[in-house]
Amino acid sequence: MINRRKFIHASVFSSLAGAISQRFTNIPKEALVNQPVVVSTWDVGIEANKGAWEVLRNGGRALDAVEQGVMVTESSRSCCVGLQANPDRDGYVTLDACIMDEAFNCGSVAFLERIKHPISVARRVMEKTPHVMLVGSGARQFAIAEGFPLEEEKLYPEAKKAYENWLKKGIYAPVINIENHDTIGMVAMDAKGNLSGSCTTSGMAFKMRGRVGDSPIIGAGLFVDNEVGACTATGQGEDVIRVAGSHTVVEFMRQGMSPETACKKVIERIARIKKDKAKDIQVAFVALNKRGQAGSFALNKGFSYAIRNNSTEKLITAKSLF
Ligand code: ASP
Repeated sequence: MINRRKFIHASVFSSLAGAISQRFTNIPKEALVNQPVVVSTWDVGIEANKGAWEVLRNGGRALDAVEQGVMVTESSRSCCVGLQANPDRDGYVTLDACIMDEAFNCGSVAFLERIKHPISVARRVMEKTPHVMLVGSGARQFAIAEGFPLEEEKLYPEAKKAYENWLKKGIYAPVINIENHDTIGMVAMDAKGNLSGSCTTSGMAFKMRGRVGDSPIIGAGLFVDNEVGACTATGQGEDVIRVAGSHTVVEFMRQGMSPETACKKVIERIARIKKDKAKDIQVAFVALNKRGQAGSFALNKGFSYAIRNNSTEKLITAKSLF
């Protein structure tokens, strides 16, 4: 028999928990659907999702999945993320990455050179330091101390060719779209219903030396709130930072919007800010809510995202404003 004290404790606790979940999520309390699931940006997301799925299908943690998943892209010679990417305008490849788990733990590195897996360094920042973000030579020093090998300073042949070509005119007018994107963002839910996310990039090709975009900025390139959902961004980082893009998408999901509608609202906000320049840039968001529902929205045509769960593995063309 439940005694009075225990009864009061139990009922206070359950109504408090109910109020908290109502206040923080506004999401109906149905059973979670379609878990586990992983969603990531661009067509490279298909391969990256395979890496993440190895973890998720074996009952692994979403945090491990989003790290393993984007490491596939960081290692891929055919992609634009990682040491094989295009350099900055001075000829150096500089990498940015961040990761976030289900308990608001997060780690980030920016302006990191000569380290193959910035996402794993970001995770070490999260797990082994009292900080969220390390940059430049400090980030590299930390990576080396953690046992990450320091790679040779060089450009891969395709990047070298692209750089030499760019140097002929030296005009910096980036348009990030199908052929020109240097980022993978990934969000996932595991079998326990926990969310995590990762984002890794070489930033814009031929950027100013020292330039950092949205990708390693928690709240801009990535945000996870385990009671609501997760979001990651790609595209012109400056315009994602301006609106705290991924955090704002999660806040719209908290108000009850679907992932797609939440992404669309933030894209519309960016379009309002950019006015007649909105058609010249690309920005896209990919979001996942606590019920395992995924959605995306882009500013301009040409953005695709990849999804994998127990029943499907596919690339989807995102809807766009223009
Ligand atoms: N968001 C990245 C940046 O601004 C670029 C990209 O998504 O391709 O650095």
